[in-house]
Amino acid sequence: MNERYIPVDCHMHSTLSPDGCDAPEAMAKRAFELGIQHFTLTDHIENEKLDSWDYRGAMEKSREVYLKLKEEYAGRMNVYYGAELGQPLYDLPQAERILDTYDYDFVLGSQHRTRSYARVDKLPDSEEVRYRYMDEYFEELLALAEWGRFCSLSHLTFPLRFISGDFGGHEIDMSRYAAITDKILETIISKDIALEVNSSGIRKGLHVSMPSAEYVQRYYDKGGRMITMGSDAHRVCDVGADIPECLAMLKKIGYTEICVFSRKTPTFIKF
Ligand SMILES: [Zn+2]
Ligand SMILES: [Zn+2]
Repeated sequence: MNERYIPVDCHMHSTLSPDGCDAPEAMAKRAFELGIQHFTLTDHIENEKLDSWDYRGAMEKSREVYLKLKEEYAGRMNVYYGAELGQPLYDLPQAERILDTYDYDFVLGSQHRTRSYARVDKLPDSEEVRYRYMDEYFEELLALAEWGRFCSLSHLTFPLRFISGDFGGHEIDMSRYAAITDKILETIISKDIALEVNSSGIRKGLHVSMPSAEYVQRYYDKGGRMITMGSDAHRVCDVGADIPECLAMLKKIGYTEICVFSRKTPTFIKF
């Protein structure tokens, strides 16, 4: 295996996300230049705040863009229709409506906040608050997994990117969350939901993927074999970033295949 080989990137944002920097066409062009064979844009749908930005317009546009890119790269790069659905349980009827309206190939299930705290990057500097945030995060993630209407559980341990690492610098005793993490992993396995390995933690100061190898190993030990992978790029220069490192980590654990989703059905890709 070529060690810089990047077969997939199934988590990326474009200007169809409020925080995306580059046009979908530019993201696709970069992916193609990198030799990526499976390309899925997953622009944000932050379910509880659809009115804070033109999410509805972006959702409409996203389908047009997908059809255009699919045609443009036909026979050269597989293009899939994706979305990252944040906090679906905060307005479940609305989330269900969105999923009934748009026939995504691939939906990431995400939790970017908790019921008490809207911004993980702006938490008060208090250990009590940090643990309350983590407690709520894992409880809400378990509820998300139990609902289960998505293809892959995105960036497990996401809050650590802001609380620990270079950004927050605070230690979190993760042994407190071992039992609930096991439950989350067992729930997604029982529902045939994949686990995402999100490489952005590596470049964003956490220096490991989300989740890190230890969690992926636990998923593997419980029988989990469905891994999706994405850079969470919000700009052209991050497309495919650190995917080879994540593949090497998977290989060490024992994986030989990763999943890409088309019409919400996984295909296993050897790497
Ligand atoms: Zn996310
Ligand atoms: Zn994302």
